[in-house]
Amino acid sequence: MRVRRSLTIKQMAMVAAVAVVFIFVFIVIQLFYFVQQNRNDTISRMENMADSVRIPLAQAVLKADIPQAEEVLATLKPAGILSRIDVVLPDQLQTLGISFVPEGKIPRLATRLFSLPVQVSLPLYALGQPGNSQPLAFLVLQADSRYLYRFIISTLSILLTTYLLLALILTVSISWFINRLVIHPIRRVAHELDNMSLQGIGPHQLEIPESHQDDEIGMLVRSYNRNQQACCQGKTGYSEQPSLLVTKNNRLAGFSGSEFAIWLQPQVNMSSGQVVGAEVLLRQQQSDEVWALPEGLIERIEDCGLMVTVGSWVLEESCRVLSVWQRRGIMMPLSVNLSVLQLMHKDMVPALLNLLERYQVDPATLTIEITESRRIDDPQVAANILRPLHDAGVRIALDDFGMGYACLRDLHHLKSVPVDILKIDKSFIQGLPGDAAMVEAIVTLARSLGLKIVAEGIENAQQKDWLIAHDVTHAQGYLFSQALPVAQFESRYLD
Ligand code: C2E
Ligand code: CA
Ligand code: CA
Repeated sequence: MRVRRSLTIKQMAMVAAVAVVFIFVFIVIQLFYFVQQNRNDTISRMENMADSVRIPLAQAVLKADIPQAEEVLATLKPAGILSRIDVVLPDQLQTLGISFVPEGKIPRLATRLFSLPVQVSLPLYALGQPGNSQPLAFLVLQADSRYLYRFIISTLSILLTTYLLLALILTVSISWFINRLVIHPIRRVAHELDNMSLQGIGPHQLEIPESHQDDEIGMLVRSYNRNQQACCQGKTGYSEQPSLLVTKNNRLAGFSGSEFAIWLQPQVNMSSGQVVGAEVLLRQQQSDEVWALPEGLIERIEDCGLMVTVGSWVLEESCRVLSVWQRRGIMMPLSVNLSVLQLMHKDMVPALLNLLERYQVDPATLTIEITESRRIDDPQVAANILRPLHDAGVRIALDDFGMGYACLRDLHHLKSVPVDILKIDKSFIQGLPGDAAMVEAIVTLARSLGLKIVAEGIENAQQKDWLIAHDVTHAQGYLFSQALPVAQFESRYLD
């Protein structure tokens, strides 16, 4: 499919039209300004000239000596800027007039617009000085308009050339930027859709261009993807929950055709039995249509460079769920796992803050779980990244505590960002109540640092009883519930 008139042409024409209007206004203002300067200059030169002959001329006029007066006036001719000199009596009677050059032909419009010719009139007194006496006559000097006309023409051509060149550069550079920033991505999306087979149309998901994650193009692609998902689910009755489809177009051959979704595992207050939150867990639909998170999938997603895409989608879906709940007045918090790769991505903080704002989510209802499955190379950098999130009200949890690469080292650095929650890894919980040493040590450490504790992987009542007896009340595990699809979680715990 081809466009009849590209946006590039349209926006170039628009920029050029706007530039031409502005150029016209600028040129008119500047031309009048420069011409006025030139007039003032000519007037002051003519005043000086008139001043230099005023006394001898007054004497000649007083004596009615016309030849002498003509002689005096002739001394002004070499200055070259005058076209005519007149001596006029107070009753407007002209006594003497000398024309140096015949007045050249100047277009009427120019004489009207710029009030040509330029003239100055100076009184002549008998004693040279005004005193109380009436002027004998007036000396009227008239400038040669051809000079000013030539000046107008040359100024106009310089201004026109300069501004048109500027407008050309401006139009081309603005068009180039708009072309790169807006038209290319739109064209790419249009071609992607255009080249799709009819079968692919249903579940097709577009990739959000890298530099458009946070702008209107990103918004358009996201809305398209969401509509596609809703449409597909409507057609197949397949899943009521939005899911992320990774296609070949996402450059991820290994995951081509995967459908991802988020499921929620409840977190409970074991003392009251109340569900107080949930952890968001990624699920992938398997060939047998069962939703699961296959062993090593997160690592494979990280390895093929999909983690930021999938992770951003998980965050956005979580914010969408929170937003729906909060509009219903439900303030239940969600914990979202954040891979270190995602954490270190330069756009993570602004993108997350933008999400919270866009979905109108209370930041205190979102907890970010930092896992130590990958080494945090520089915990101080991680701390600097987390600080603005924490300052915005987002809670920070350290996941799988005790299992990571260097948890104490990280905790030491992370203490500059108040971590709010330590999650005790399920491998330690499994040893309870017989092997409690590690859990006891972690609980003591967390308490001394003033952190909240969430125990993970509670599978039986003995583990639960031991934790309650040691004042660890918040937990998640199969004893309470496995992860559930969002709709099921809502109907079980929120309705
Ligand atoms: P995790 O963050 O430690 O999540 C808890 C894991 O423990 C979940 O496994 C959960 O199903 C499982 N679990 C919960 N209760 C019990 C229990 O009582 N017994 C046992 N044996 N297991 C229990 P899951 O969903 O397979 O997730 C595995 C890991 O994958 C997660 O560990 C997390 O590190 C990662 N993951 C999951 N979803 C995401 C995601 O959206 N983003 C990132 N970056 N990582 C994720
Ligand atoms: Ca977790
Ligand atoms: Ca964990």
